[in-house]
Amino acid sequence: MPNDVLPAELIRLADLDAAWVECGAGARLNAVRRAGRRLRDRILAGGAVRCVRTADVAAFPYPTRYGFQGAAAAPWPFLFLRNRMHLVQVAAAGRTITILVNPTDAVRSARAPFFARMEERYGKLATKLLSSTHAPLEAALRDWGVSPAGVDYVTFDHLHVQDLRGLLAPAAPGGRAFLPNARLLAQRAELETLAGLHPLQVEWYIPECLAGVPADRVVALDGDYAIGGGFALVRTPGHTGGNHSIVVVTDRGAWTISENGICVDAYAPGTSRIRGLARHARDTGVEVILNANTREGSLDQYTSMVLEKTLADPVPDRPELPQHFSSSELVSHPLAPGLSPTYAHGALTYGVVDTGAGSGAIRASA
Ligand SMILES: [Zn+2]
Repeated sequence: MPNDVLPAELIRLADLDAAWVECGAGARLNAVRRAGRRLRDRILAGGAVRCVRTADVAAFPYPTRYGFQGAAAAPWPFLFLRNRMHLVQVAAAGRTITILVNPTDAVRSARAPFFARMEERYGKLATKLLSSTHAPLEAALRDWGVSPAGVDYVTFDHLHVQDLRGLLAPAAPGGRAFLPNARLLAQRAELETLAGLHPLQVEWYIPECLAGVPADRVVALDGDYAIGGGFALVRTPGHTGGNHSIVVVTDRGAWTISENGICVDAYAPGTSRIRGLARHARDTGVEVILNANTREGSLDQYTSMVLEKTLADPVPDRPELPQHFSSSELVSHPLAPGLSPTYAHGALTYGVVDTGAGSGAIRASA
């Protein structure tokens, strides 16, 4: 059971509450779009985060029909995605709070049923050749000058293929976890999904991913929350029931982070150079293209992507594109010609890392 006492630095944002309970998917879309503008103003009024950094986690093949909802015209069965994580620091309650966004454990992730089945089908060598794992979290933290004990929170846009045991569960009974002071921030709906998987969800989750993680290390959220200035977790249901997007404000305005779409083309298909996307948008009138591996709630996922476009500022030199950072972003690959993103953000870098930050550092010096 997660901890129901919320940390004081989490500030509830209620702007979208009424919009999400609007009956009728079309009415809900309109209400979310309208309320999203108010929420965007509120988040921007809080100023920017202290810093944000990016690290590559892993690259892997992914079915093309999932990535672009069947709209891409390329014949290749797989495209290639790269997972990235972010370090975000914010000022709140008179100190720096350190948050890791999407710190996927690539080795444990590979054991999710979907990837395990792929390995069974194509063989260990093929999947190994097609996938690559970048430097582990330890190395990224070292590069940023942040100690594992200095991390206050971890959060993922959703818990597909995630396994938190390596981060938050003590390695041995009575021992310390790798991130000894960090707590997971997850929507209660996502935790409830995990506790009782539907057969159509089994392929993407690792059901024992929180085994051994102490209850007080899991914070269940019911809704949207800000932490400090320039950082918010905003519900974006659809891809999964408990999906949320991470909003980060830098000197370039607001960014959204999630896996609802696999690159900016998914958020501006009308201007995409990927064959099939602009035509699909023109023919059907849609303004976004879903990452459609699960279809838990496609209408809400569409609405969630419109919400992300509403919250995010445009790319300065490409105003038709939103500053949406796909946590699993499409990358070019020789085995998938024609399936390259029209524009890629690659990394999000802003501000100066506070290397003495976090509860761990305070405790260490106490
Ligand atoms: Zn997913």
